Formats: sequence, structure tokens, C-alpha cells
Amino acid sequence: MVLAGPPGAGKYTLALMVAQAANCTGAAEMASRENGGLPDFCGVCPNCVRTAAAAPLRARFDEAVAAREELREVDKKETRILIQTHPDVLVIPPDPPQLLIKLGQVRRVIHEIYRFPAEARRAFYIFTSTGFMKEAANSLLKVLEEPPEFASIILLAENPGELLPTIRSRTSLFHLGALPLAEIEALLAARRADWKPAQRSLVARLSDGAAGRALGFPLETYLASRQDALILLRGAVDAGDHSTLFRMTETYRAGADGQEKMSGLNRALMSILEDLLMVRAGTPALIRNIDLASELARMADGLTLEWIEAAAHGVHRLETGMRRNLLRNLSLDAFAGQLAAK
Ligand SMILES: [Zn+2]
Repeated sequence: MVLAGPPGAGKYTLALMVAQAANCTGAAEMASRENGGLPDFCGVCPNCVRTAAAAPLRARFDEAVAAREELREVDKKETRILIQTHPDVLVIPPDPPQLLIKLGQVRRVIHEIYRFPAEARRAFYIFTSTGFMKEAANSLLKVLEEPPEFASIILLAENPGELLPTIRSRTSLFHLGALPLAEIEALLAARRADWKPAQRSLVARLSDGAAGRALGFPLETYLASRQDALILLRGAVDAGDHSTLFRMTETYRAGADGQEKMSGLNRALMSILEDLLMVRAGTPALIRNIDLASELARMADGLTLEWIEAAAHGVHRLETGMRRNLLRNLSLDAFAGQLAAK
């Protein structure tokens, strides 16, 4: 089966829950009576606990990569990154450095999948990405044609269109949609009590209905990027203070840190421009940066739709410039100049 949805929608969480529900030996029966007969899991039996140990995907992945680094050179080449915290649940992440699913990983799945589960009722093979090397995808097709009755293959897809049509036609597709704003806010109230209500409300709007994205939202980094984005836009709108602008663009340097900072700034710029568009379009209730509502209303007042569109194109040019490795502060100064000239 394919579980499709944007980053943070809960694809991996759901895949592990399905594996737990299929194999729980604990209070499953009682729990399913309580929730109207739906399959459920206890979370405390050995099958549940060992499956759940794979949940912190990033940490498990880093451990597997570190373990491979320890190996001798010859063995390193032969070793593919796999995560297995339960003998019958195998998680297959994209293999670095190319971050694609490789033939060796699919071969391991083929090798294991016809083996009857050791401790579970059903074995699970969870591919966390749809980025396959060509031979790997072809090889996977063969298993999808004749999967054993006691095993399930789950593919997690941000964009199911990336899968080979032949793979898609052999799987059933489930979309994980966006959660309503109120549900994300309730989730944040329960799990991120460290944030103030106004901050939770902002994050809920910025995470596009994706629970995982909301829970792990880098709020401080976003607010810092947004501060810089506002300096750029204010400078253009009120012909503001240029020394503040140049002091800010000066901090965008070369290297990996600069690249991340620049991506953050681009995202913040786009989110403000989208909000300005909402205000101009007469639907201010849809803005996401709600804590800036009055400033956005003031800003949008003097702007045309064409200006907002041109600014959005400017942000795309910044992104292209980043890929071509142009000097970041100069690109930003040029962008500010274009904004002011309109
Ligand atoms: Zn259980």
C-alpha cells in the first residue's frame, strides 16, 4: 500500500501504528471493543514496544549510518542502511549519500519477505521514500507482483506521482489529508505547553494541517527569518532605513549555514507575500501570520496585486541564484532594490 501526504502528515507514524495493530498481543481486543470494533494496539506488549522503537526515524537512521561508518572500507560498500527494531518490521530509508533506495536494500527485502514472520502475525516492510534507483524499483516490482500472504509492503510517498506507474497499479493508495486548524491547535495545546497560546495559534496556521510539522515546528528560526523578511519588505514599502537593510543582508554568508538561513528567509518571504495577497483579495481571515495582522493590513494598503506577484517572482529568482551559488548578500540587496523600484 502507498501512504501519501505532505511532510509531517503522519505517514510514518501511521505505518508503524498499522504494524502495531496487526501484531499486538496485549489489550488489542479490549481496546477494539472500546472504540467500536476498529483495530487498535496496547502500546505495551513486546510487539508494540519493539515496533515503536523505530519511531524516532531520524535518530535510528543516524545510528545506522554511524554504525556503517565504523565498518572496514570493503564492508561499508556492501552494507545498506536499514532500521530493524522488531525482527518482523523492517524500515528501509533512502541510503546516503545519494539518499535513494538502492538495489541492495530491495534485495534484502526480497531475501526476507518469503520467510514466515518469527514473532509477529504479519511482517511489515516500510519504505520511507519513493526515491528509488532504477534497478531497485524494477526489483521491487517483482515482489509486488507476488507478495506472500503474511507480509505487507508500505511505501511512504510525498508525491505518489514519482512512483513507476507499474508500481502504482500494483498498490492501493491512501491519502493523508490536512487536519483542520482546530485539531492542530488542540494537539499543540496538549503537546507543546511550552509555547504561549498566541505562538501555538501561529504555528497551527503555518503547518498546513500536518501534525508532525506542527509539533516539530522551528518557531524561533522562523521568527528570526520573518524578522529579516519584514525588514526587506518594509524597506520597499515605506522606503525605510537602508542601514538596517544592509546590516541584515550582510549576515547572509556563503556556506551551508548561509544556505539554510537563506532558505528560511525565502520561506518566510513567501508566507508574508501570500498573506499580503489574502489581505488584498479581501480575505484577511485566511492569513497565517496572524500576529502581524495589523501590520500586514497597513502594508497591503499601498500594494497592488502586480507588485505582490513581482515580489514572489523575485523570491523565486533568489532561490535560483542560491542554486547557482551567487553571493547571497548581493542577491538580497538586488532583490530589495527591485522591490523598491516598483
Ligand atoms: Zn500491543
